Amino acid sequence: ETVEFIGFLNQVIERFEMNKYENIEFERDFPDKEMLVWIDEDKLMQVLDNVISNAIKYSPEGGTIRFKAISTRKQLRVSISDEGLGMPANTVDKIFDRFYRVDKARTRELGGTGLGLAIAREIIDAHHGKIWAESKEGKGTTVLFTLPLMSQKRRGKL
Ligand code: ATP
Ligand code: MG
Repeated sequence: ETVEFIGFLNQVIERFEMNKYENIEFERDFPDKEMLVWIDEDKLMQVLDNVISNAIKYSPEGGTIRFKAISTRKQLRVSISDEGLGMPANTVDKIFDRFYRVDKARTRELGGTGLGLAIAREIIDAHHGKIWAESKEGKGTTVLFTLPLMSQKRRGKL
């Protein structure tokens, strides 16, 4: 269905904010403009739920999670950054593999199966977008994804 992505993203973030996880702050940097996308809302919710849950799970007490959205003519790009423990540079691509978990000893107590990001990648691929991560050990992690914006032509038909 057609979704205004910034409004949708705000709703998802607000749902997390209501739970007030361990004093984690949420910061948003969104442009004041409409970003229309053609998406399966439930599936995108699943992607956001997992990426945000990861950011919370791996954030230190009192950490800030930053959301940023930008758009070009053809696509929007969302980034979700945390101030958590990060990971070595050679693992940022592997975390999208099924069952892959960085440092099993470290993450075992935090729970999870290692499927969340593999599913997120399948969903974003199916939407003709891309999803990847950037990270610095000890500094934090940023997960980014793109989605194609609806063309002006389609917009005109609404
Ligand atoms: P699941 O999502 O299935 O409950 P999970 O969170 O372990 O389990 P993924 O979401 O696929 O699985 O993430 C894979 C691994 O990537 C995690 O186990 C963790 O090691 C690493 N990871 C993901 N996000 C972050 C992050 N924000 N900071 C640090 N490590 C991360
Ligand atoms: Mg996860």
